[in-house]
Amino acid sequence: MKITMAHGSGGKSSAELMKAVFAKYFKNDILDRMEDAAVLNVSGRIAFSTDSFVVTPVIFRGGNIGKLAVCGTVNDLLMMGAKPLYLTSAYILEEGLESELLETCVSSMASTAKEAGVQIVAGDTKVVEGNGSLMINTTGIGLIPEGRDISAANLKEGDAVIVSGYLGDHHACILSHRMNLENTIESDCAPLNDIVDRLFDEEIRVKAMRDITRGGLGTMLNELAATSHCGIEIEEANIPVREEVKGFCGILGLDPLYMGNEGKMLAVVDGDDAEKALAAMKATNHGKDAVLLGRVTGDKGVVMKTRLGGKRVIDSLYGEGLPRIC
Ligand code: MG
Repeated sequence: MKITMAHGSGGKSSAELMKAVFAKYFKNDILDRMEDAAVLNVSGRIAFSTDSFVVTPVIFRGGNIGKLAVCGTVNDLLMMGAKPLYLTSAYILEEGLESELLETCVSSMASTAKEAGVQIVAGDTKVVEGNGSLMINTTGIGLIPEGRDISAANLKEGDAVIVSGYLGDHHACILSHRMNLENTIESDCAPLNDIVDRLFDEEIRVKAMRDITRGGLGTMLNELAATSHCGIEIEEANIPVREEVKGFCGILGLDPLYMGNEGKMLAVVDGDDAEKALAAMKATNHGKDAVLLGRVTGDKGVVMKTRLGGKRVIDSLYGEGLPRIC
């Protein structure tokens, strides 16, 4: 079946689509009440985040836009030290979209939400003219446990900078699809609950966290250093990039330091906790390839010690990068 404007009319066709696709996968006590708004019991400090997803292609190796739309918002909540609780999901469907493709994304969204421990408690669907694609917005709420203070402003000289795994996988995967390149590069798209939970369970003194999305590691490091008025020094030899992604970047002249990921994060922890934090991360599924990347310094800006012993200033990504990877 193809999606038509009638599916967005609010009438009979809309109700049929709701029943056949959304209600089939999204079920919970709050949503099932079908009220005008979800009523939630939450008390304490709340992290609140929203993101829109417009990736092309919508299905890619390692995931699809439905999975991505959960991971993106859940990871942003996690990076503030929050426990993600609730999500909304708004779908904008283009006329001509195959309902099977929509169902693949909705089903994936439901299973990823389950994995991430969040409930989808409100939603909306609109149909617009277009080329049979779809876009999704998710908004999420998470609860920050008492006494937890995670912020880009917390960095101090001597803190350790840890990255959770290989860089550039998602970006290289999406580009490969678009360029019709045959390879086995898979998106790293994943909710990072396991890593964050583990760090706090082990009582690591976490200062700041960032998911390494658009703009890449280089940009994230600069944001942290600038917000905390300090410097960061990293070792080129420690930057984790898969051989296949390295080859891909080499051909296209891309720098993995500025490539987007959807399942990787940076953690800045108290320098004395560096080894313990690294071991904690490595013990998780999504952090098993974690490495200690460098240290926070008393200087300004981000500097990389190169393999040859030189130093290179790492700037933020300048200009556009590449659109529609998330
Ligand atoms: Mg983020």
